[in-house]
Amino acid sequence: PRQSYLYTSSYGAETPRTKPEPLKRRYSGRRSTEDVVESTAREKQTDKNDKKTSTAAILKNLPPGIDESAAKQILNDIVVQGDEVHWSDIAGLEVAKNSLRETVVYPFLRPDLFMGLREPARGMLLFGPPGTGKTMLARAVATESKSTFFSISASSLTSKYLGESEKLVRALFGLAKALAPSIIFVDEIDSLLSHRSDAGEHEATRRIKTEFLIQWSELQRAAAGRETSSSANPRNEAQRVLVLAATNLPWAIDEAARRRFVRRQYIPLPEPQTRETHLRTLLRQQNHSLTEEDISKLVQLTDGFSGSDITALAKDAAMGPLRSLGEALLYMTKDEIRPMDLSDFEQSLKSIRPSVDKEGLREYEEWAEKFGERG
Ligand code: ADP
Repeated sequence: PRQSYLYTSSYGAETPRTKPEPLKRRYSGRRSTEDVVESTAREKQTDKNDKKTSTAAILKNLPPGIDESAAKQILNDIVVQGDEVHWSDIAGLEVAKNSLRETVVYPFLRPDLFMGLREPARGMLLFGPPGTGKTMLARAVATESKSTFFSISASSLTSKYLGESEKLVRALFGLAKALAPSIIFVDEIDSLLSHRSDAGEHEATRRIKTEFLIQWSELQRAAAGRETSSSANPRNEAQRVLVLAATNLPWAIDEAARRRFVRRQYIPLPEPQTRETHLRTLLRQQNHSLTEEDISKLVQLTDGFSGSDITALAKDAAMGPLRSLGEALLYMTKDEIRPMDLSDFEQSLKSIRPSVDKEGLREYEEWAEKFGERG
């Protein structure tokens, strides 16, 4: 199967946010609590109205050739708003973060510095085992570069939107330019750009793939300044649109498509240090009695686990103290529940196993060696 159940659950929602800060900063003046509450409510309302009016304004001024209903669908389903991910939410992956800063974040924030030889890539591929933080990285990139974030899974293009997909792809790229800086994040890119023989490929899928490649090429040409367009500053817009794609099956991508991703970043399973950071972050949310020694042991025991495996393990272990209670838990106070300990993890380790085995891992390592950047 493409993904394990661990991968498809949305653990991200529970990832602790260390970011109430901007609010604090904004309201740390001499204002009373009521002032703050009232103006926060007002701001929220304004935000909502802003979003509505801006969606309406965008739809009114659609660039030529973009289908209105496709644009609406994109603005509703594919542009991601709220629930931001920041670098600090992601454990480890320093090399990947740095590479993304250099490839996307800085060029988007300071396009004037990234010209000529420093011209940024127009496509970047994140590949590696499932649940290692590829989607989180893409979301963090969008937050940190203050970009509009378009997120679509390639398999939904070829299923959910099938029939409308070509229009949708055109609208996707058109809107990304209109709302630049933009990140177009395509998850499961392999299902769109795989090298199945033409004969075996579904006709509709082939058309979407072709349209995607055409739009992407146009973007690359425009960014390089070889395109004439009616838009006021097409080069500028196109320069601030990046296709960021993720896959668990990098070897399924056909060679021509692979070469278009100038940067191919390996997102490996977490190192011990990263597992430790991740585990500590998760444990901060729960009453526990694990000692330093227990945590070291846990780091060893989770060798081969992905980030999402670790989250799943911790969530299961957190149920430990409740499981032995049965119905009695309904009548207990919170303080009467025992803290979680190492035995809960050991118990959960019996059922929660890594989603990638050694053999599978070797395949990623080999592909990374041949075609990727490591780290
Ligand atoms: P991928 O896109 O590589 O399959 P995701 O980014 O969707 O993986 O990660 C799935 C979940 O696993 C996240 O929502 C998060 O809870 C957890 N996770 C994975 N990697 C990390 C990490 N490096 N730091 C923190 N959480 C992680």
